[in-house]
Amino acid sequence: MIAVKGYAAQSPVTDLAPWDFERREVGPHDVQFDILYCGVCHSDLHQIKNDWFPGIFPMVPGHEIVGKVKKVGAHVKKFKEGDLAGVGCLVDSCRECVNCKEGLEQYCLVGNIQTYNGRGKDGVPTYGGYSNTIVVHEDFVLHISDKLSLPAVAPLLCAGITTYSPLRHWKVGKGHKLAVLGLGGLGHMGVKFGVAFGAEVTVLSSSAAKKEDAKKLGAHKFVAMNDPEQVKGVIGYFDFILDTVSAPHDMGLYLSLLKTDGTHICVGVPPEPLSIPSFGILGGRKSVAGSGIGGLPETQEMLDFCAANNIVSDIELIDIKDIQKSYERMLKGDVRYRFVIDIATL
Ligand code: NAP
Ligand code: ZN
Ligand code: ZN
Repeated sequence: MIAVKGYAAQSPVTDLAPWDFERREVGPHDVQFDILYCGVCHSDLHQIKNDWFPGIFPMVPGHEIVGKVKKVGAHVKKFKEGDLAGVGCLVDSCRECVNCKEGLEQYCLVGNIQTYNGRGKDGVPTYGGYSNTIVVHEDFVLHISDKLSLPAVAPLLCAGITTYSPLRHWKVGKGHKLAVLGLGGLGHMGVKFGVAFGAEVTVLSSSAAKKEDAKKLGAHKFVAMNDPEQVKGVIGYFDFILDTVSAPHDMGLYLSLLKTDGTHICVGVPPEPLSIPSFGILGGRKSVAGSGIGGLPETQEMLDFCAANNIVSDIELIDIKDIQKSYERMLKGDVRYRFVIDIATL
């Protein structure tokens, strides 16, 4: 077994603290890479707090992982020692169902295997990227370009693909009016991709505090949702709303901002179910949809698109000892726009 240093939550009510554990030896198809940076996703906080379902503890969060390959198994073809590598939210899936065969491993019908807070096919709990090394089957390891800043690439592995995938699926681009609801980790990547794909992008944010940032990120318009006059100006305006909000919110209000036949795409996962008023969707034949991360082929496509178009996340690099403070800021919506842990501080 490989000895690993990590940071773990021992229970939903304890702070994260150093925790040593083990990972499997490198198998014939495995890649082991030393983790250099790991992004901090709001899903880490949801899962530590059992917001969605009872978690597996101790929990080592982290699914925006980049680093350098240390060792490869005898049959590995895709990677060699010294290559840059990344892992997102998935480390395995059944590989046989119709979705897996189409490269939609995130929708595996048997159940995908998450990078942490899951169990591998061997029944052993999975542990994420708040740790110094990881072993993953090569099919679930992504190639990372050396052209981009490595810490700023880490968030692409979740925040990036989670916003790229729905915008591609619904073919959002030139001629569309796209609203990005919530300017946090996912939201700021949604703005960058929406702009890159040619849509007119408006940020819908809780207050005016992030207006200047939204412009710098490339957004064309900004609406402070606490100003009724500004909200009135965008009633019936959008073709799509990309909803990245992590807390309960008023769906009736946001549905009123869609055009006829508009689509509200949920990627945020508040702890409680959202309430959808029937009149809010039948008037104007509107759709409420959802999208989960992305499959392996599309994640590689997104990383390659980012390398070709010089797109990375705007990050605040943190010491792992400051993780709790970062969670507190995240809960207040004070993320500009992704915390990334410098794993050298572990
Ligand atoms: P984040 O960085 O904390 O951003 C969330 C943003 O939502 C905040 O910055 C804030 O933006 C806005 N917000 C927060 N509370 C709000 C409220 N009560 N009302 C209105 N707006 C509010 O979080 P994240 O990492 O981007 O993740 C966002 C959500 O997506 C989480 O629920 C996460 O679990 C989920 N997620 C889903 C997937 C998927 O596969 N679908 C993948 C990753 C994450 P403003 O300050 O602009 O208002
Ligand atoms: Zn995530
Ligand atoms: Zn499957």
